[in-house]
Amino acid sequence: MSTDKFIKKIEKQLPGKVFTDKEDIFCYGFDASSTEGVPSAVIRPSSTTEVSEIASLAFETGTRLVPRGGGTGMTGGAVPMKNTVVLSFEGMNRIIDIDHKNMIAAVEPGVINQHLQDMLEEKNLFYPPDPASMKFCTLGGNVAENAGGPRAVKYGVTKDYVLGLETVLPDGRVLNTGGITYKGVVGYDLTRLMVGSEGTLGIITKIFLKALPLPEEIATLLCTFSVLDDAAQAISAITSSSIIPRTLEFMDHESISAVENYRTFGLPLDSEALLLIEVDGPHSVVSRDAEKIASLCSSFNGRISVADDMFSKQRLWEARRAISPALYYLKPTKINEDIVVPRGNIPGMLRSLRNISEKYGLLIASFGHAGDGNIHVNIMTDKKNKDEYQRANDALKDIFRSTLDMGGTISGEHGVGLTKKQYIGMELSETSISIMKSIKNIFDPNGILNPGKIFPDD
Ligand SMILES: Cc1cc2nc3c(=O)[nH]c(=O)nc-3n(C[C@H](O)[C@H](O)[C@H](O)COP(=O)(O)OP(=O)(O)OC[C@H]3O[C@@H](n4cnc5c(N)ncnc54)[C@H](O)[C@@H]3O)c2cc1C
Repeated sequence: MSTDKFIKKIEKQLPGKVFTDKEDIFCYGFDASSTEGVPSAVIRPSSTTEVSEIASLAFETGTRLVPRGGGTGMTGGAVPMKNTVVLSFEGMNRIIDIDHKNMIAAVEPGVINQHLQDMLEEKNLFYPPDPASMKFCTLGGNVAENAGGPRAVKYGVTKDYVLGLETVLPDGRVLNTGGITYKGVVGYDLTRLMVGSEGTLGIITKIFLKALPLPEEIATLLCTFSVLDDAAQAISAITSSSIIPRTLEFMDHESISAVENYRTFGLPLDSEALLLIEVDGPHSVVSRDAEKIASLCSSFNGRISVADDMFSKQRLWEARRAISPALYYLKPTKINEDIVVPRGNIPGMLRSLRNISEKYGLLIASFGHAGDGNIHVNIMTDKKNKDEYQRANDALKDIFRSTLDMGGTISGEHGVGLTKKQYIGMELSETSISIMKSIKNIFDPNGILNPGKIFPDD
């Protein structure tokens, strides 16, 4: 049966939930990467039973499905290939339960990350994973990408908070993994396998998340540097000290000026780099740690200011979250990578990025979660300028080589999707890739779930 026949049949089964008009489906064709496609249809299910019905029919008819959350992914994971049907989770956005006694939240995949954060805070609870896209991305997308964020340096990433999952397999069967206990070692850890699987193994329909007590106090420090290398040395000094900051974010001069040109936040344009650092905990610990960090930064010629009211804190974080959109005002095409190096190698990596930028004559803006060695490298170019675009792609390979030579990885949190699949062989051995393909084949023998993602084309 063709995709058309699948669509006709599913329209009858789920009236009002299947969309095929161009204007309805257009915005499901892209994400935050520069890739795009056009789905044959978009379905918005409202329950696990409906997702299971859709998958069963897709399995029977060989129809290819692409799960989609907020479409904020950076690597094209939710971008539909030709002849695919998008499953979108706007209709499954309920916070099912917040169990304060057990500190667990049960949610549907379409819940926006920020929404859960707000609901938990009202109950004095805290869900740490905070991608900078938290106002728009969904928890289903976060689980599928194993999303991180600024607070990962102290609190870890999404996988550290997922206790259990309900997943619909590509043939329609419902798989429950993990549960609502903090421990559990019966059999293979299929929950962890699902986390970060980029919508290629199963469709996540329910998530059980661990919450923490809300930290008592947060101190926010801004530290600016006139010399890039001083900032890099300060990062290394902080990460090798006895303090684990709640966030340790980095912006280079190019990112600072892009943000200030985009909107006036009051960031110092004469700086070569800045660090946005937070520490949290009880009052006595926060003031002690903030002082220690300030003194470490000063020893590398950093200038410190403390954001002492909510307005100044929010303004700094808004500036940080504005970098991605702001960069598009520099050049129309952004090759966005999220390399990670062992934290002690940050000074070396930043020097290497400067050298690569000079070698290829390209504008490279870097920012990111320096506290865990995760640098978002943005090569700014214009796809239409063939010569420059070629140089940008050559520079990208140099960046990946340099990252791997330093013991790093080519993606810390954005995943592989479409944009990085041709590079995974630089990092993973043939044996690893072949085992991963076998796993994909067990879950999805007909290759109908999120086709064309993660693995290089044969
Ligand atoms: C401005 C900006 C800042 C960002 N900052 C960060 C950051 O700090 N840290 C970080 O980690 N990421 C960041 N990202 C990337 C992105 O927000 C994350 O990858 C996020 O987890 C994607 O969520 P989403 O709901 O938008 O998913 P989508 O983009 O819709 O989908 C992403 C992947 O998840 C799969 N998927 C979605 N829902 C399901 C489901 N229910 N079942 C199975 N698979 C599913 C899709 O098939 C796709 O492969 C940022 C993006 C932007 C635009």
